[in-house]
Amino acid sequence: KKEEAPTLSKKEQKRARRLFPEPLLNFKELRSKYKISSRLAENVAEQGFTVPTEVQLGTLPLLLGKSSEPDLLVVAPTGSGKTLSFLIPVINKIVRHHHSHPDEHGILALVVAPTRELASQIVNEGRKLVAGTGVKITLMRKGMRVGDDSVADVLDENSEESSGSEDEDAENKPAKERANIPVTKSDILVTTPLMLVNALSANRTTTMATLPLVRSLVMDEADVLLDPLFREQTLDIWKACAHPDLRVGLWSATMGSNIEDLTKSTIKERLEDLGQKPGE
Ligand code: ADP
Ligand code: MG
Repeated sequence: KKEEAPTLSKKEQKRARRLFPEPLLNFKELRSKYKISSRLAENVAEQGFTVPTEVQLGTLPLLLGKSSEPDLLVVAPTGSGKTLSFLIPVINKIVRHHHSHPDEHGILALVVAPTRELASQIVNEGRKLVAGTGVKITLMRKGMRVGDDSVADVLDENSEESSGSEDEDAENKPAKERANIPVTKSDILVTTPLMLVNALSANRTTTMATLPLVRSLVMDEADVLLDPLFREQTLDIWKACAHPDLRVGLWSATMGSNIEDLTKSTIKERLEDLGQKPGE
């Protein structure tokens, strides 16, 4: 009589599938298997990519799966398509959020990148993906005001236009004219650390304003953002994201600058700030 080989319990199998979901085989699965917004799926299809890259096929199932969204540290080479990997889940989450929380307005996702150039590229890619979804993505600019404790608003007088004339807008207009710029709501704010820290500290003497609604914090080029040059500002932004359901994604091209240690100590600091004990 054959002995049955030992195997994982049902519970262990479930956990394993959550940790190691099936790879995304093609972009059609975003809709058929992961049920992302149909408009978002169309916008992805419109990009004309044939197959997902390695980082996309690995992370999209993790971030779009049914089980609770994880915090992630992703390391994948430059040019491997990380932007699409974090933008699709962030946008899809906001589309769903708009359905479940129709009255909640404010910044729901924050994408931090070390340079304005990178931030601007992310916004350009994001604009193609959000078309027709009702989600708004905005590039942080000087002169914008961000939030107070209850609502986070962005002054964004020309978010629909292409990125051509960005450097000559709000900051060069006289104050009076600036004050008349209508306040519009944005869901995703893309920024460099310094610009956001400055905006959050404006009009405050001691503490920074918070971003109470942000559920997704994406740090692009996370190794650079956690490097001594940006670290303080990046941590201040992380701390300003006060929502208990915040999920953090750290995306990097290298494990350089000891990103793993930095990430661990950052998470530890963050948990201590929240009065929790760093656990598993
Ligand atoms: P990374 O942030 O990892 O350095 P990007 O997100 O900037 O890479 O993507 C690099 C380039 O690859 C971009 O021009 C992007 O449009 C393109 N790209 C993204 N995903 C795919 C794909 N699945 N197939 C082909 N090209 C892709
Ligand atoms: Mg990138």
